[in-house]
Amino acid sequence: MTLLKQFTGWATDSNRTPKQMFQRLRCRFLLTYLTVMATVLGMSSIAVYVFFTRSHEQHLNNQLLTLAQAAVPSLNAVKTEGLQSVNQDLPWRELFKRDQSLEWFDANGKILARKGKIFSTLPLKRTNQNIQQQGQIRTLTIAVYSDSQSSVVADSLQRLELEGYIRANESTKEIESAIARLVIGLGVGNAIALIFMAIGAVLLTQQTLEPIEKSFQRLKEFTADASHELRNPLTAISTAIEVMQSHPERVHPSDAKKLVAIASAADQLVSLSEDLLFLARTDAVVAPPAGWKYLYLNEILYNVVELFKPYAQEKGIVLKLQLIPSILVNSEPAQLKRLFANLVDNALKYTITGGSVIISMVQQKRYVVVRVEDNGIGIAPEYLPFVFQRFWRADKARSPQTKGLGLGLAIAQTIAHQHGGKITVSSTLSVGSCFQVYLPTA
Ligand code: ADP
Repeated sequence: MTLLKQFTGWATDSNRTPKQMFQRLRCRFLLTYLTVMATVLGMSSIAVYVFFTRSHEQHLNNQLLTLAQAAVPSLNAVKTEGLQSVNQDLPWRELFKRDQSLEWFDANGKILARKGKIFSTLPLKRTNQNIQQQGQIRTLTIAVYSDSQSSVVADSLQRLELEGYIRANESTKEIESAIARLVIGLGVGNAIALIFMAIGAVLLTQQTLEPIEKSFQRLKEFTADASHELRNPLTAISTAIEVMQSHPERVHPSDAKKLVAIASAADQLVSLSEDLLFLARTDAVVAPPAGWKYLYLNEILYNVVELFKPYAQEKGIVLKLQLIPSILVNSEPAQLKRLFANLVDNALKYTITGGSVIISMVQQKRYVVVRVEDNGIGIAPEYLPFVFQRFWRADKARSPQTKGLGLGLAIAQTIAHQHGGKITVSSTLSVGSCFQVYLPTA
């Protein structure tokens, strides 16, 4: 039974048809694949971005340092000869570029000379070496020292004396536009890569899920064939037992009880094979219009209630019907009867003597909602997500006498789905249950 449950219940993710299950699986697979790919792409793009910006910044800083160092020998000349000395042929001139500038300061931070066009308005930072950024200008300042003999020359000691500062500036415009180009390139590249990956993912998903869908299809065919093949011998057994029971004089009294047990087991197997056959055949089919009719729902419900009245009376349960006339649904009458019969049967089965079962109808937009309400034993909240699963039954200890295979609600749900509707359940333990069937009106 467990194996059978695994096979036939596999696709029934509580409230979903196998088709919906596969669609969900496909979406999940696609989403997971794309999320992983997008994450990998995003991470590698970030790595490229960080590496690119860092190496450009490093390069810029090195360039500024080289320029500032090249201008160090000119500081004394600027101090003594003034502004015109900066135009002399000094080493820094060979390095100097259009988007750079140089500034010479004395030891007190007073500007002595400037060369270039791009200058930072930041105050001079008087440390040995520092880098500052102001808008699109990068600034590097170095302190210039000269060796001077101290008063203790006798002891051969030398002291460094601050001569001034050199500040080199450079525009970061070019780097920023290169980074912007890189970001656009990475964005466009990633978007194109994701489009190709999405196409690849769709093909991959198809290829991966195809064998699973095929094997599921084969499994359904197998279940249908096995149930079909089992039905005939089981019906033969049931008929043979009925014949034997119709001639009690021919049966040994000690065997009569065994015969009843065999008949009951055979009936259970016949209904199991029929239920399995039904589920296997209807799983893939969604609302086939052929053979369907426009029916008055109140008539179907009335017939179902009539069918269960003797059973309700026998159990001492009040069975009430609150119908709305003239509501048409497009359906297969036998299936719809089966749906409501399963629900009413359960309501009666799981309600004790003196209880009541109410079947009512309400119209909600383009749906008609049929409620099957009882004040029976109810279902524990932790079990509610499983009630529509195949072969699921609540704690058997609570209802040891109630017969059942746990397929009734699964069948009811399959029929509701086939009709383009759904079933919901609300229940409180020891208070009662309410099953609501939503069907589209014609
Ligand atoms: P079964 O043949 O066991 O009734 P169903 O699929 O019809 O199988 O129901 C599955 C389980 O859901 C039942 O075994 C029972 O535990 C629970 N159940 C269904 N209907 C009701 C109800 N009206 N009240 C309480 N429990 C219910």
